[in-house]
Amino acid sequence: MYDIKAIYEAYTIEEAIKLRKEHPEAHIIGGGSDVLISIRDGSMAGCELISIYLCDDLRGISLEDDGTLRIGSLTSFTDITNNDLVQKYCPTLGEAVDTAGGPQLRNIATIGGNISNGVPSADSATSIQAYDAIIELQGEGGVREVKARDFNLGFGKVDIRDTEIVTAVKIRKESYEGYKGHYFKYAMRNAMDIATSSCSANVKLKDGNIVEDIRVAYGVAGPTPLRVFKAEEWFKGKEFSDDNMKEFAKKALEELSPRDSWRASKEFRIQLLYEIAYRSLKSIKEKFEGGQNAH
Ligand SMILES: Cc1cc2nc3c(=O)[nH]c(=O)nc-3n(C[C@H](O)[C@H](O)[C@H](O)COP(=O)(O)OP(=O)(O)OC[C@H]3O[C@@H](n4cnc5c(N)ncnc54)[C@H](O)[C@@H]3O)c2cc1C
Repeated sequence: MYDIKAIYEAYTIEEAIKLRKEHPEAHIIGGGSDVLISIRDGSMAGCELISIYLCDDLRGISLEDDGTLRIGSLTSFTDITNNDLVQKYCPTLGEAVDTAGGPQLRNIATIGGNISNGVPSADSATSIQAYDAIIELQGEGGVREVKARDFNLGFGKVDIRDTEIVTAVKIRKESYEGYKGHYFKYAMRNAMDIATSSCSANVKLKDGNIVEDIRVAYGVAGPTPLRVFKAEEWFKGKEFSDDNMKEFAKKALEELSPRDSWRASKEFRIQLLYEIAYRSLKSIKEKFEGGQNAH
């Protein structure tokens, strides 16, 4: 069964931070959909855990006075997808997390756990980078905010300090207002599968068809979820045309470093990354032309 040395339960953020300080070797467990698998396969066998699952102050989605969308770190994928505020302001994030696993998984998996495990296939991690989100952490030293783009330090490594826990993901009004987006996950099956590669894009237009701003993040295109800042800069001020989308998709490859894995070869991923970026942008253009409400 599960080889767990000890489990400590926190009911509030303060208790969680205190437990982090008292048990520096212990791992946080939220929904447990990554942690329990690792305990079961032996890689985390015999560990100590700090459960934050009963910290209700980490759950829920709200709109702050300045229009910032705040998603508590323990909010499940199901609750994110079904939330009215997410559907209205950041629907691409809801769509992205709805591609993860199956319904049972989405009921238990949390956004905090998904971004904290630090893998490049995490569906929410790519998507929040395309929303230029901010990750809020709380620890002994108080509250700290890190941009999603700076949170991943390497494969499986994220910027969470000693006594900290991730408390929320925040998306500012200026990061979603006027944008339309698309999440493209390519996996070997249509359900219950991790991304072979993925692309999340958000675009804002001006004067009809000129790119005012664009943010594109890729999953499984390198050791962490990656933004393509140079290609984004190149596109700003240009027409949101088919030719330019293709040129963007080509330029973006220069900033990505996909590798061989049992899921796909490097060569296949390069072709895939081009294609999913182009198709994502095309789909965004259709949303603008169709006048859909989707951001
Ligand atoms: C069958 C199956 C299918 C899956 N399919 C997908 C998929 O398609 N797409 C996808 O992206 N993922 C998928 N996953 C992975 C997993 O479900 C997600 O990564 C999930 O979101 C993790 O959330 P959790 O609350 O269960 O995390 P946990 O397992 O509790 O924790 C994960 C990691 O994050 C840390 N952590 C958790 N919460 C916090 C916090 N608040 N602050 C700091 N650290 C924290 C833990 O210490 C641990 O290192 C799948 C998993 C399974 C078992």
